[in-house]
Amino acid sequence: MRAEGFETVRRILCVFPRYTSSFGTFEHAYALTDGVRAFMPPQGLLLIAAYLPANWPVRFVDENLKPATKEDFEWAEAVMVSGMHIQRNQMNDICRRAHAHDLPVALGGPSVSACPDYYPSFDYLHVGELGDATHELFRRLAEDPSRPSEQVVLTTKDRVAMSEFPIPAYELADTHKYLLASIQYSSGCPYQCEFCDIPGLYGRNPRLKTPQQIVAELDKLRECGIPDTVYFVDDNFIGNRKAALDLLPHLVEWQKRTGYVTRLACEATLNIAKRPEILEKMKEALFVTIFCGIETPDPDALKAMHKDHNMMVPILEGVQTINSYGMEVVSGIIMGLDTDKPGTADALIDFVEKSRIPLLTINLLQALPKTPLWDRLEKEGRLIKDEVAEGRDSNVDFLMPYDEVVSAWKRAMAIAYEPAALYARYQYQCDYTYAQRIKVPVADELKTWPNIRRALIMLRNIFWKVGVLGNYKRVFWKFALGRLRKGDIEGLIGSAMIAHHLIEFARAATSGRQNASNYSIRLREAAVPAE
Ligand code: SF4
Repeated sequence: MRAEGFETVRRILCVFPRYTSSFGTFEHAYALTDGVRAFMPPQGLLLIAAYLPANWPVRFVDENLKPATKEDFEWAEAVMVSGMHIQRNQMNDICRRAHAHDLPVALGGPSVSACPDYYPSFDYLHVGELGDATHELFRRLAEDPSRPSEQVVLTTKDRVAMSEFPIPAYELADTHKYLLASIQYSSGCPYQCEFCDIPGLYGRNPRLKTPQQIVAELDKLRECGIPDTVYFVDDNFIGNRKAALDLLPHLVEWQKRTGYVTRLACEATLNIAKRPEILEKMKEALFVTIFCGIETPDPDALKAMHKDHNMMVPILEGVQTINSYGMEVVSGIIMGLDTDKPGTADALIDFVEKSRIPLLTINLLQALPKTPLWDRLEKEGRLIKDEVAEGRDSNVDFLMPYDEVVSAWKRAMAIAYEPAALYARYQYQCDYTYAQRIKVPVADELKTWPNIRRALIMLRNIFWKVGVLGNYKRVFWKFALGRLRKGDIEGLIGSAMIAHHLIEFARAATSGRQNASNYSIRLREAAVPAE
C-alpha cells in the first residue's frame, strides 16, 4: 500500500545519518570483509520511501556509505531524515546542510518520537509511526514545498496497520555493502522493563505483518542481493508467541525453496528457552543467533527492573538450551544499576566465562525518555540534565560513585574481550552450538565463482590483517588452524570477523576512546567513514 491522492509531484531526498561509532555497529569488522561499509539498511526510512506517492521521485542516501551531495540537495524539493538518539548530531547536521539549499526538512523515527525537543531546527517533526501524520506531511509538502515559518509537529494518532505496510524500498539501498539485512515482522513488546522505551513508543500488544508479507520481503531482499544474514529487528520476536509460531513454518518453506543460503537472527526474551516448539522450528528455519537482553545475572537486579521473565529458567540453563538448538546467544548487559555492589563486575565476569557467550553488549545504564526509569529518577532528583557538560557517559546519578561504576565497566570489558578468553568462547560455540545446526547440502548458489571469490577475499583479509599484522596472532592462529583442520571455513570467517571488532572496540573503550553507553548522548565524532 502507498499513499494516494497526491497529484502534485515532489522530489524527495531521504537521508540516513551516519552512526557514531558504537559497539553494536561492528565497524572494526568491515575491513576484513569484501567491501562491507555499514551495518544494516535503515528499515524506517526505506519504508517511508516505499510509502511515498507512486508519482513522487525519491532518492535514498545512507551517509554511512556516502554523504548526500550538493547535487542531491539541488535535485530535491524536500528532505526526509530518520534516526536514533545516537545519531542526533548527525541528524542535525543533515538539517543544516538541507537548509543551506533552502529545503524543508522532515524528521521521523525513534529519536524524534521520544524526544521532539532535541530537534528545534527541523521544519517538520513526524512523531510516532506510519499513519495520519505521514499523510498530513505529504499533503503539506504537496501543497507548498517551501519551508514553513515555524516548526510543524505532526503526531500519528491513527496508525497504518502493519499488514498494510508496503515492502521497504530495498531496491534503493546498496544492499551488498551492509553487514546484515533487516526485516520486521512485529512491533511492540508485552513486558515493561523499567529502562526500556519500547512499550511506551510502540505499545504492549505487538502489531504484526502477515507471514505472506515477510516471505515477499525476503524474496525482494534476495532479488536485491542481500547479505548472508537477515536480522528480524522486532522488539521481541516472541512478544506474540502464537504469531511467531504462525510465521516459522513459512520461513522453513522459504529456506527450502531458496536452498538455505540465508541465516536468520532475531531479538527475543530469554524465556524463549521454555518454548521448545518455537526453538525447534527456529532451528529448522536456520536461525543462528538470538539477541537476549539478559541485562544482569543478579536476580535481585532483574526483579528491581521488572525483568522477572528472565528468571523463568535459570539464566545459564536458558543460554545452554538455546545453544543446543544451534543458536548463539548475544547478550545485552547493563552496569550502573541501583542494585550494583562492589562485587558486581566480578559476578559479571564469572557469568561471561560460565555462559560462554562471545558477544555481550555491556552498557552503562542510561535513562531514556518515555520509560518508567526516567520517571522514577526524575522524582528522585537523580536525572543529570547535562551529562555532556559534566563529561559523563550516563544521565543517571548512580548510587555508587560514578568513577567506580566506570572503572568496573572498563575492567569487565577488558577481561571479557581479552583475546584468549574471547576466542575460547568462540571455540566452544563452534564445537558445540554451531555443530547443532541442521545440516543442509551446499546450494549451487554458494558454489559460484563470485561467492568463492568473496570467501577467499575475506580469508586473505583475515589472515593478513589479523594473522600477520595483528597483535593477538598466537591466539588467532591456534583457533584458525583448528577450524581449517575441520574444514570449518564459515566458523573461522564468522568468528574472526566479529572477534576482531570486539577486541578492537574493547581496547578503545578501556582506554577511554569510546562511550560506556550505546545510548549516551555524549556524542563523539562519528568514526565510521563515509566515502
Ligand atoms: S523485554 Fe525487551 S523489548 Fe520488552 S520491555 Fe523488556 S527490554 Fe523492552
